[in-house]
Amino acid sequence: MQAFEEYPCPNCGSELNYDAAKSSLKCLHCGAVFAIQKSTEVIEERNISIFKDAETIPIAPIQVAVYRCSKCGQETQEAGDVAFFECRNCGNNVVNPAAYTTRSISPAGIIPFKISKQDALDRFAQWIGKGFWNDSDLKKLSLTDKLEGHYVPFWTFDCQTGNQWSGYSGRYYYETVRRRNASGEEVTEQVRHTNWTWRTGSFELFFDDVLVCGNKAIPQDRINDIYPYLLNDVVVFNDEYLLGWNARAYDKDLSETYRLARTIMDRKIEQEAISRLAEDTYRDLRVQTDYSGETFKQIILPVWLCQYLFKGKTYQFIINGQTGVISGTKPLSVSKIATAVVIAVLIIAAIYFFTRSG
Ligand SMILES: [Zn+2]
Ligand SMILES: [Zn+2]
Repeated sequence: MQAFEEYPCPNCGSELNYDAAKSSLKCLHCGAVFAIQKSTEVIEERNISIFKDAETIPIAPIQVAVYRCSKCGQETQEAGDVAFFECRNCGNNVVNPAAYTTRSISPAGIIPFKISKQDALDRFAQWIGKGFWNDSDLKKLSLTDKLEGHYVPFWTFDCQTGNQWSGYSGRYYYETVRRRNASGEEVTEQVRHTNWTWRTGSFELFFDDVLVCGNKAIPQDRINDIYPYLLNDVVVFNDEYLLGWNARAYDKDLSETYRLARTIMDRKIEQEAISRLAEDTYRDLRVQTDYSGETFKQIILPVWLCQYLFKGKTYQFIINGQTGVISGTKPLSVSKIATAVVIAVLIIAAIYFFTRSG
């Protein structure tokens, strides 16, 4: 059986949760608040070459972890990669540190939740209230049970690049041409031509903390919408921040996420090369890149996730648990849209009628 870590309240022995609003541990029973000791360790970037080979080993199948509650004796089962457990019977809180060690790389840092559940709900209410087309019944929606705070694993990559580029730069010039139009009248016209010049050059570009999500369930596009995370606030990883929150080990490994990070870097490099090459336009761009000093780290970031059913359809939204930035789809009001369509048709009909009779 795995070793679970318990953090009972020093006052009353009840459960502690990490409280986002107070940035501290708070007892659910007596309300006492305790600061988390911050580590002075420096979070180090790790050299990627050491791990590239190790990461070709597939992620080991997830075993079931069984927690026997120290308070009531009840057994609770969860997948082995789940890092935070609650006793099914009495709600006792425990951390499962082995969850992260089921992977070859453990988290180095974490940004603790700053946006509390109430704050997240308020931000949702404000966001959904905006926009003329939204269904007004939405404001009555209660999402308290559906909104979940998740600590999500991310990978960050640093890299130095040296880039050699070449291609044709195009400059437009115009020629005035006389010709006859369909009615036989002589008209002048500007015709555009392009002057092509072969060019080459080089530049260096350093990438700092290219961030890629390590959880398959959350599409990267969704995550991009709630960026940025302010990575200066990353602290040394500590189990205590997980108390009371959903937490799971990564399921997108280093090699997979690094490929994505390379794509992000290459896109930036190409844009930089284009800005150096093109005058008005360009063609045949080639860029050769040398990557060096590639490092990475795994960090855990806070995300609020919500999926809810509204008038028979499923909607989702996502909130940055550090900054409160929100993104998602909003249910549109069918009746408002129908009314607008009817009004538009009436206006078109009226214009048609008056222009005909006028
Ligand atoms: Zn207490
Ligand atoms: Zn229990």
